Amino acid sequence: MTFTADTLVLFGATGDLARRMLLPSLAALDHDKLLDEDLRIVGTARSEMSDHDFRSFAREALEKFLPPQRRGSMADFLNRLSYQPLDVTADKGFDDLAAKVGKDRKLAIFLSTAPSLFETTIAGLSRVGLTSGDTRIGLEKPLGTDLASSCEINDAVAAAFPEDRIFRIDHYLGKETVQNLIALRFANVLFEPLWNARHIEDVQITVAETVGLEDRAGYYDGSGALRDMVQNHMLQLLALVAMEPPSGLSPDEVRDEKVKVLRAMRPVESGESVTGQYRGGASSGEIVPGYDEELGKPSDTETFVALKAHVDNWRWRGTPFYLRTGKRLPKRVTEIVVQFKCVPHSIFAGAKMQPNRLVIGIQPEENITLSLMAKVPGLDRDGMTLRSVPLNIAMPDAFSGKERRIAYERLLLDLIEGDQTLFVRRDEVEAQWRWIDAIRALWASEKLEPKTYSAGSWGPSAAIALAERDGVTWNE
Ligand code: NAP
Repeated sequence: MTFTADTLVLFGATGDLARRMLLPSLAALDHDKLLDEDLRIVGTARSEMSDHDFRSFAREALEKFLPPQRRGSMADFLNRLSYQPLDVTADKGFDDLAAKVGKDRKLAIFLSTAPSLFETTIAGLSRVGLTSGDTRIGLEKPLGTDLASSCEINDAVAAAFPEDRIFRIDHYLGKETVQNLIALRFANVLFEPLWNARHIEDVQITVAETVGLEDRAGYYDGSGALRDMVQNHMLQLLALVAMEPPSGLSPDEVRDEKVKVLRAMRPVESGESVTGQYRGGASSGEIVPGYDEELGKPSDTETFVALKAHVDNWRWRGTPFYLRTGKRLPKRVTEIVVQFKCVPHSIFAGAKMQPNRLVIGIQPEENITLSLMAKVPGLDRDGMTLRSVPLNIAMPDAFSGKERRIAYERLLLDLIEGDQTLFVRRDEVEAQWRWIDAIRALWASEKLEPKTYSAGSWGPSAAIALAERDGVTWNE
């Protein structure tokens, strides 16, 4: 299993993800000499293209999506590329791909195509001998639309690849600040003794987008916020916040701890979720239409969801996790807020005490802010005055000489080199779906309809009430 691939086969090589993320990430790795000199990249998709056409396609993508200072010698990178047209739903074509790849190669295959194509792709790869022991496979999300469809995909992949050669992407795990969560928790003695229900009042996780449907109508309307964001990214963030200290950083040591959290999540009960759908309003200074207008028809898909979640174990009993995500919210932000409890007894008569709060900003700003109580300078004739002040670490400043890499650079390199730590294991995906499916079943049984909210607001007022009922205010 510990081999470095000498050939990367990229399915969906003409797609949006390949143009915007995958090819630019690979070129950036090449620029930084992080790819083995001999690594070849074979793109494949339905479009008829020659090697030369594909290189031109890649060059255009790099010129558009990769900053000039990270491009380096594009010619060297483009020389690694070749292309094989292949419709994975047709019987023929895989033999040509196998011929293009050549014999006795160490392969990393990445499926950046719709998951409905995974089964036939893997059957085709199997048929022509491209699934042998020296091959690993990376899978883009979404892995199914519910537990049953996810199991179907996982079964199809497992028919050809053992789990230790399957790399399921959740690109949030490739983000620096998300990995930094592990460092923050386990490389500092400060937090771990307090990291439990005795000292933490609640945890908030927000993934807010300002964009609307963009051109993802076909996918998004069949998915909604719960399945698009909560099922994968937000549950992975929650698992990293809530997991027990792993005994090491090996893939299974970390994933064993995450899956325990995911399995310990209590099913969401009635009154613990709010869904919404945006209507027209003002977003980023522009007047924007509502979801139904963008879609061109009425829909009951939620573009916003807020949940109160519980992890039923000793560490977290009594600490709710509030999750909130949506489109057309006032700002683009992904953050985790850990709200500590008040000091048990205040000796500062009359001073307003504010409990400590740790805010971990994941995007767009990568920063960690810890709010601490401090004395306001003065002679204190009427008693000591206190104020909450932030201890702020902006990651790009703290590590100013270090390149900030996009998540796919890390993940593609890990796929090529075979490190599964930042990839999601089957039991994690399935535990995530089990929890999500129960929420959807609850919504169906209660005939829950999304409440409307204006574009540019923080979602329906019921989402504010969901937290305020417990005396909690969303961090905004
Ligand atoms: P896309 O732009 O629609 O591209 C789909 C790719 O699949 C194209 O290269 C297309 O080839 C190829 N394809 C379609 N049918 C095929 C067939 N029968 N045989 C062989 N190839 C076929 O999609 P995308 O946005 O790149 O997304 C790819 C996957 O990543 C999807 O599962 C998506 O949900 C996921 N994803 C995308 C993003 C994103 O930002 N785009 C983010 C997260 C996850 P031709 O064009 O040549 O037909």
